[in-house]
Amino acid sequence: MSKLVSLIHCAGKLARNMGRLVTGRPLYIPELTAMTLEEDDLRLVDQLLREPGRWQRGEPVSQFQEEFGRWNGSRFAYAFMGGRVALTACIRALGLQAGDEVVIPGYTCVVVRNAFAFEGIRIVYADIELDTYGLDYQDLVRKTGKDTKAILLHHLYGLVARDTARIVEFAASRGIKVIEDCAHATGATLDRRRVGNFGDLAFYSFEISKVITTFSGGMAVTNDPVLAGRLAAVQGEMALPSPERIERLLLNVKYHHLALKHRLKWLLADLAFVRYKKAILLSTVQEEMEGAKPAWYEQTMPAPLARLGLNQLKKIDALNGRRTAAADRWGQWADAHGFGRPVVIEGSRPVFLRYPVLVAQEMKQDQRWAEKLDIVLGEWFVSQLHPVPGRIEGCPNAEIAVARCINFPTLLR
Ligand SMILES: *Cc1c(COP(=O)(O)O)cnc(C)c1O
Repeated sequence: MSKLVSLIHCAGKLARNMGRLVTGRPLYIPELTAMTLEEDDLRLVDQLLREPGRWQRGEPVSQFQEEFGRWNGSRFAYAFMGGRVALTACIRALGLQAGDEVVIPGYTCVVVRNAFAFEGIRIVYADIELDTYGLDYQDLVRKTGKDTKAILLHHLYGLVARDTARIVEFAASRGIKVIEDCAHATGATLDRRRVGNFGDLAFYSFEISKVITTFSGGMAVTNDPVLAGRLAAVQGEMALPSPERIERLLLNVKYHHLALKHRLKWLLADLAFVRYKKAILLSTVQEEMEGAKPAWYEQTMPAPLARLGLNQLKKIDALNGRRTAAADRWGQWADAHGFGRPVVIEGSRPVFLRYPVLVAQEMKQDQRWAEKLDIVLGEWFVSQLHPVPGRIEGCPNAEIAVARCINFPTLLR
């Protein structure tokens, strides 16, 4: 977008809101994303930007790892530059080799596929079920073969996967390892234990749209001391981002807050775009969509992002409480429109990062009906390997979810 176009766009929105101010109607401030950065995080980032001499320190990172592990009920935690990088660490910790096979859901992010593909691992896709969007147990069993060394089990939208316990038991009976993808579900519990403590290893994401955010970051956890030793070794082999990259990451925190969260974002978003344009980073770059590994991929989390993570961690329970309360509103919406609610399995407490509902296909294709709700619907899983277009064979439920699953934001004003 050229500067002129963005300024005109900005003026248009401003005029529209001025009209609303004058006539006493509510301002138009759609929830672009239910993102968790707040004023105090921004003050911290300004302080961090003034202290580049401290960016290479180790203590904030150890502290974040320890506090996250303690909060999560996991004995060991290791921080990386992304959930996808934490997944790479899990794969290496398990000693998976080129030619080994893994079964993953046929409804996931391309970066999950990539983490395995980068290690030369053969990928088999199992279908999901449409209650909790977790792996479909029967299809998983069907697709598990003699070369299967690991299963990736996910907890999508913050719901606990329906067959978590059964899948972990099945894997153990075959000597197969389980990695839990908890990117959406940080804090969700099953039988009072947080997800991520059921498989052998798990990873979490602190990307901008997740439960808490460091703009970009992730954590790998385990309760097994041997696997923990290997995670530590993998972390030790990775580098910290350069000071230039760290500065850019911190500027992205500022930009994304102005664009998505600031209470004057309807005015500031476009101005911020003009100002930070050269620094803006995407969470998944074109290279990754094409299956290539970016140069910055193998990196661990630097001190400033760990400091931000520590600040976010203080708020996580309150954030998840708000999400759970909002989920009720969308549940009532689903009831009123004759759509099913997502299933909360017995003994589980989801965190409802988003509230997924299976609607009629036309309602997903043409979302104008959602405008009067004053929210922006999630554009999640536009394809089975989000966001890369294309179809994965043999996963009919995943195709239904791509066609019909919409998701509502759960952090409302
Ligand atoms: C976001 C996400 C990831 C990857 O996490 P990053 O921190 O973005 O690398 C993995 N799995 C799922 C389901 C996700 O939504």
